Amino acid sequence: MKLTVLGCLGAYPYKGQGTSSYLLESDGFKLLLDAGSTTLVNLEEQLDPLTLDAVILSHYHHDHIADLGVLQYYRQLYPTLEPTPVLPIYGHTDDPIHFEELNLAGVSEARPYFEAEELKIGPFLITFMKTIHPVPCYAMRFVEAATGKVFVFTGDSGYLESFVDFAKDADVFLADTYLFEGNERHHAHFTAKESGEIAKAANVKKLVLTHLPQHGSLAELKQQAENAADNQLPVLLAEKNLVITI
Ligand code: ZN
Repeated sequence: MKLTVLGCLGAYPYKGQGTSSYLLESDGFKLLLDAGSTTLVNLEEQLDPLTLDAVILSHYHHDHIADLGVLQYYRQLYPTLEPTPVLPIYGHTDDPIHFEELNLAGVSEARPYFEAEELKIGPFLITFMKTIHPVPCYAMRFVEAATGKVFVFTGDSGYLESFVDFAKDADVFLADTYLFEGNERHHAHFTAKESGEIAKAANVKKLVLTHLPQHGSLAELKQQAENAADNQLPVLLAEKNLVITI
């Protein structure tokens, strides 16, 4: 499977970098994971947005859904000879108003996911875990059915010990790391120290820091995560167009 970073910042876009959004591909299937600010223009550099197969959302904060509406308009209004297929958009139902807005007649269809149920989308088997966040949010564990490769995305979350099991032995662990060391046990986000500690305890093969802060040294953020992981695994900073083969 192939992961492409479209946007990697938390909260708001800044100096050419957008907010949370990733493209996950396997066997020709194209899944958009969150749809933050600048998603659509960055997605256009990777593929024709009309060919996107599905979208899945961790939660409904603006920095994860800012471009969802314009993606819907793109597919509604782009002139084509053949009708564009209705786009399935998967989200949780803890917030029924936002979930309902995933529907746009003839364009997109809201589809629910649930914490207790494994979901199959194209080549992926996905399980979910509710996170620590001011609004309901779910982490996702993707298994590529054909290979057994594992990719885990935290969504947005404060420290939660159960991530050690949820991310166990993942090939890639993409972790919300909005905070520098010293802010541990925050109500909404991991610190770099927590990302590194969880990655090491879960025995993941690669840690990718994302949902990054706009201010402060990212080199220092990375160093803090590496130290917390006892330098036992590779740590990368997400950035636009970063591609990781899993
Ligand atoms: Zn959030």
